[in-house]
Amino acid sequence: MADTNYLLEVLEKHIADVKSEATVSHIGRIVEVGDGIARIVGLRSAKQSEILACETADGTQIHAVVLNLEEDTIGAMILGDYTSLHEGTVVKSTGRILDVPVGEAVVGRVVNSLGEPLDGRGAIQASAHYPIEKIAPGVITRQSVHQPLQTGVKAIDAIIPIGRGQRELIIGDRQTGKTAVAIDAIINQKKFWNTDKAVHCIYVAVGQKESKVARIVARLQEEGAMEYTTVVLAGASDPASLVFLAPFCGCAMGEYFMDQGKDVLVVYDDLSKHAVAYRQLSLLLRRPPGREAYPGDIFYLHSRLLERSAKLSKECGGGSLTALPVIETQAGDVSAYIPTNVISITDGQIYLETDLFYQGIRPALNVGLSVSRVGSAAQTKAMKKVAGKLRLDLAQYRELAAFAQFGSDLDEATQKQLKRGARLTELLKQNQYQPLSVEEQVAVLYAAVNGYLDDVPTEKIREFETAFRSFLGASKKELLSSIRTTGELSEQDETSLKTAIEEFNIGFKL
Ligand code: ATP
Ligand code: MG
Repeated sequence: MADTNYLLEVLEKHIADVKSEATVSHIGRIVEVGDGIARIVGLRSAKQSEILACETADGTQIHAVVLNLEEDTIGAMILGDYTSLHEGTVVKSTGRILDVPVGEAVVGRVVNSLGEPLDGRGAIQASAHYPIEKIAPGVITRQSVHQPLQTGVKAIDAIIPIGRGQRELIIGDRQTGKTAVAIDAIINQKKFWNTDKAVHCIYVAVGQKESKVARIVARLQEEGAMEYTTVVLAGASDPASLVFLAPFCGCAMGEYFMDQGKDVLVVYDDLSKHAVAYRQLSLLLRRPPGREAYPGDIFYLHSRLLERSAKLSKECGGGSLTALPVIETQAGDVSAYIPTNVISITDGQIYLETDLFYQGIRPALNVGLSVSRVGSAAQTKAMKKVAGKLRLDLAQYRELAAFAQFGSDLDEATQKQLKRGARLTELLKQNQYQPLSVEEQVAVLYAAVNGYLDDVPTEKIREFETAFRSFLGASKKELLSSIRTTGELSEQDETSLKTAIEEFNIGFKL
């Protein structure tokens, strides 16, 4: 803390300044600076989240954002290199609340938390700017979530469907495939781009290694997904202030498209690191630490971010913002502070487990603990038809499998259920970067839940799936397109699907 004499000295200097300047309350001075935080006196008209301009000795400007409004001083986080700022540096308020460029100009770009380009492809000429903090849409302006957001991952689309406007948490330990699920969901939107079901995607990398993010961006480019995707990057080496701002920046960019009546998917990867950055800033600002040293308003921080996801009513344009926040747990501990907070804010969670991952069950989805509180409201009728049975079969399998480990004499019905369950589990495995269309998912799952796979050896299931899909793609195009366009599995389609499976089964050598 600066001592009183020093504070008085700075104040006197400041008063002298003020006497000579017309814009009285817009000029202040730094009294304390360090670790990306500055304490400033004299800025009596400053507002929360306002941008401040700090003038360094060499005449350049460094921006800061107001976080704390106290009686005598204000606390601000510095958005740049704080080492060139010193006690006594002049700070001017700009009257602007922090905003970011939005719109078509940011599509296909990699930007930092302030919307500045990081991809070396020139300046962003945005026609509009959105404030990074905005009050979430109210109840009246919303409608219930009812349209599916296809992730292309069988296990998710069938068992824990995600709707447009929903908030679904992806939670798991490190290296369990959390990012993979989110990236597959983004890649899958390629199928809908330039149709009336198009989804704009925003991937917010929070506190991740730059090399990892570079690989993700390269992959998105390869898959042609950057055509509709924006990447917001605040890397592990960036100051905590930028890491803290990144999710809000991504959300604001998404909100613009939602306001235009479009559908948006925003991935926050991950909010655990976001919480840590906010804890760092709060402790430096001397806000009182609470549980696990996080500040008391950490729940509010994440809830006000995630509340901004919505499905707007028809009168408001019908746009939607779907959020996929990611949380990393330590040793599977979902009862820690940040995980429990975010679980309670979201509308369900995709729970990924290390054990399953190493058993080769990838995506490593724990089917028992994962839920989607929106449920089948966000599924097509065709998917609903097969998914209900799938869920039931898997639940029974889980229950029986635990017992079957001990017993040997099992009755026929039990054996049959175990057999079915093992095949379903195998069928739900899926490689990364290979999202499936709904009609393909419906077709393969239909075969499984109706017993057509019961005689196929477990180790051959994936081979069967691949071959069956290419068979459908080659000779049953009308069937697939009928399921896709109607979203239903009509009796006629069901009959031709059955015939197709039987036809294929004859040719498939066991
Ligand atoms: P981190 O905690 O480091 O962020 P994460 O939980 O996001 O990790 P990913 O980076 O998505 O996990 O995946 C971890 C590894 O597992 C990667 O090498 C990825 O290629 C692989 N992987 C993820 N999903 C699958 C899958 N379905 N099939 C095969 N490999 C997968
Ligand atoms: Mg990851």
